[in-house]
Amino acid sequence: MLPWLEQARRSLRTRFDEGRLGHAPLIHGPAGIGKQELGDWLARLLLCREPVEAGACGDCQSCQLVASGAHPDLFVIDVLEDKQGIAVDQVRGLIEGLQLTASMGKNRVGLMPRADAMNRNAANALLKTLEEPPPGAWLILLSEQPARLPATIRSRCQQLALRVPEREPAESWLAGQCPESSRGDRDAALELGGGAPLAALQMLESGGLDAGLSLLEDLATGTAHGELIERWQAEPAACWQWLARWMAVLMAQASRAGGWRPEGQRLPPVPPGRDVARLWQMALDGHREAERGVVRQDLLLGRWLLEWEACQPARK
Ligand SMILES: [Zn+2]
Repeated sequence: MLPWLEQARRSLRTRFDEGRLGHAPLIHGPAGIGKQELGDWLARLLLCREPVEAGACGDCQSCQLVASGAHPDLFVIDVLEDKQGIAVDQVRGLIEGLQLTASMGKNRVGLMPRADAMNRNAANALLKTLEEPPPGAWLILLSEQPARLPATIRSRCQQLALRVPEREPAESWLAGQCPESSRGDRDAALELGGGAPLAALQMLESGGLDAGLSLLEDLATGTAHGELIERWQAEPAACWQWLARWMAVLMAQASRAGGWRPEGQRLPPVPPGRDVARLWQMALDGHREAERGVVRQDLLLGRWLLEWEACQPARK
């Protein structure tokens, strides 16, 4: 188990052992901190025939079926490819599955890795099951933005909030995962990932960090304008996301002036402007437009660059 989730794991385990685990735990928190790992761990525990201290045994038939992705009593409901959200039919299928008699042990488990992607009808369809769950049925909901879930859903769940870990333990875990990386890169990845270790790991392992940093450097210095526009047209959503992350870092650094500064910082050393919050908002808007498929990305980027220029201290 990821070290910063140990406390949450123990708390779930205690509730499970003492029969106090609600039938619908809602595990929420920012992206990249391990909600999925914890949700999977809990699903395996609920289905295992002979749980051990650490959780599921990993050996019994049930554990083996979970590992092979073929457990008949585990129902994973996620956003289907090419779809925007979780549809009501998917939830109806889940409810039917949970009402059957368990094939293997006594429990059936529904797992929703992105519960907040349920549309309104899907959420309504789930309500009755949350109110009167069939015996032995468990629903594990994971969410990055629990506020998007209807209050009626949230109030029927047992909520568990996960937070990003402290910087030092996150950094040392990351160093263990990527021993070849430099401290400067790990710091930059953690900063840009909002402190979420799995998000930072993904940036380091995919080579995305270098690509993202070079993009931000070009933006900060106003160089390679043509290339910048080309990249923006090719991958608008990803580019806006890097920009939004960077603005979030600048805002955070401005608010902890004189506080923690990463060693060997590789992020462009741009002094926080007068209105970084506005630049951040524009980047978020740009990201949303890109996801909606708005094509004139060069115009949107141009508008952002003008604002950015206006925020810079006067050049000598
Ligand atoms: Zn087992």
